[in-house]
Amino acid sequence: MKNIRSLEKDEIKSYFESIEEKSFRSKQLYKWLWQKLVGTFDELSDFSKRLREELKVTFYIKYPDIVQKQVSKDGTIKYLLKLEDGSTVETVWIPDGKRKTICVSTQVGCAMGCKFCYTGRQGLKRDLKFYEIADQVSVIKRDLGISPTNIVMMGMGEPLQNIDNVLKAIDILNDEIGFGIAARKITVSTAGWLPGFDKLIDYPKQIKLAVSLNAPNNEIRDEIMPVNKRYKIEDLLSAVRHYIDVKKKRVTFEYVLIKGVNDSKEDADKLIALTNDIECKINLIPLNVAVDDKDSPFDSIEDGRVKQFEKWMMRGKRTVTVRKSKGRDINAACGELKRYEIDTKNIIIK
Ligand code: SF4
Repeated sequence: MKNIRSLEKDEIKSYFESIEEKSFRSKQLYKWLWQKLVGTFDELSDFSKRLREELKVTFYIKYPDIVQKQVSKDGTIKYLLKLEDGSTVETVWIPDGKRKTICVSTQVGCAMGCKFCYTGRQGLKRDLKFYEIADQVSVIKRDLGISPTNIVMMGMGEPLQNIDNVLKAIDILNDEIGFGIAARKITVSTAGWLPGFDKLIDYPKQIKLAVSLNAPNNEIRDEIMPVNKRYKIEDLLSAVRHYIDVKKKRVTFEYVLIKGVNDSKEDADKLIALTNDIECKINLIPLNVAVDDKDSPFDSIEDGRVKQFEKWMMRGKRTVTVRKSKGRDINAACGELKRYEIDTKNIIIK
């Protein structure tokens, strides 16, 4: 028996060919699975009873289980989802007026080891399959009964290290017989895993790219993002320039503002110099460390310092925004919900 949600479009087609069913069944089934998000084969009302029974012999329908759900005062909801092999990932629902964003994970854990991120301190367990990435959206849509308007791949994991599954998941999210979310509303965020760039550039859909830069020079970036020891800022920026040349799309640089590490006037000056000739937007993300995160090597940054840094950055040519803090009361920082689940089971993931 196999989870039918794990089948790709051409596998669904081959299955129907193998049982000598008409080819239009593939599109019908795909719609039931990815647009209507059915929970049982009995809901397939345009399939004969015989065909529904035949499907049940070979397949079952299984979504990830919600093992924990934390709701913030501001409406942000953080989900901890359990996959079929028992692995858990976190997914966040972020409502902001008409914009409803889901932040999805692309790996179980992460190999990038960013010092400011709890997930990064746990290491990588495995890549997510394409349907496990897309099904984080399915679970939330089924739970809340609301469709998301935007998707950001900024949860656990480095998307470009799992690029094949990420792009297949985006196909489903964007498909008009899937979730129907416009490509320009889907953002892939990378810490700078350069081997994944070519496939992203070749991907024909106009999705958005965010690059987690976080430092104005190699010295600081080496300290807080180990990936920089492998792929230096100059190489990352040349990959970004190439991406912009080919895709004709502006990128967003994410800059996690860390107190005493990358928040000085000199850092702002260097960041302006580094990015002024690149078609980009700069998004400042104040680092907020959970009160009980004793392992964090950093402290939370004060609002006044964030405003000051933003002012310094305004002297450059590029648009600068500060990410609104959402879900602080439920520890919505990267990897936090996962941490609580780990703590309650007293398991330490290395
Ligand atoms: S910030 Fe993102 S890329 Fe860096 S360790 Fe955390 S999950 Fe991985």
